[in-house]
Amino acid sequence: MSAPTFVSDVGKVLIDFDFAPAARRLAEKCPHPEEIVLALFDGIKVPYENGQMDDQEFVREGMRLTSFAGTAEEFITIWCEIFSENLLMKKSLTAIAGKVPMYLLSNTSGLHKDYFWRTYGIFECFADGVYSHQARCSKPGEEIFRLTIEKFGLDPLRTFYVDDLMPNIETASRLGFRTFHYSFAKHSEFEQALAEWRVEQGIG
Ligand SMILES: [Mg+2]
Repeated sequence: MSAPTFVSDVGKVLIDFDFAPAARRLAEKCPHPEEIVLALFDGIKVPYENGQMDDQEFVREGMRLTSFAGTAEEFITIWCEIFSENLLMKKSLTAIAGKVPMYLLSNTSGLHKDYFWRTYGIFECFADGVYSHQARCSKPGEEIFRLTIEKFGLDPLRTFYVDDLMPNIETASRLGFRTFHYSFAKHSEFEQALAEWRVEQGIG
């Protein structure tokens, strides 16, 4: 029987994100106003997150679409500096780290994944993850959940899954996971649900 396991989404759970500073900084370096500059990425954001473009192609395309007047390095910095750590979650997860295997399941890109792993201490709680840009499929589809089950040898019935998006929660529930639909405002409810699950699973 598989051990009880904790699996988490990333954005709006472990870290918050806000593209507004990126829009402002991009607008300073291109002819497009900050109000519309992010819309220029509409056609490439999802293909990039689903692994149909690599980091280099995305940066090249992003710089071309915005007529970005800076270096690739500057573009990458602006694109990545949109996050902030959820300190309440860091505290909760640090308390269970080492007691239960912990993994990530995220729709994300190579640039963002590399950035958040090297920037935020909360990721030290996690051993590994499944990411849409590598899996070439994304939530809320079932395929990426099945890949995650297989990769980490999960028993969904013994796995706690947290995500902020309801369609992802619905897929996870359908596959048998114990789920929690997270928002920053519901952090104490999350702690309660996690504590109950720990007792049920006999995690000290
Ligand atoms: Mg999320």
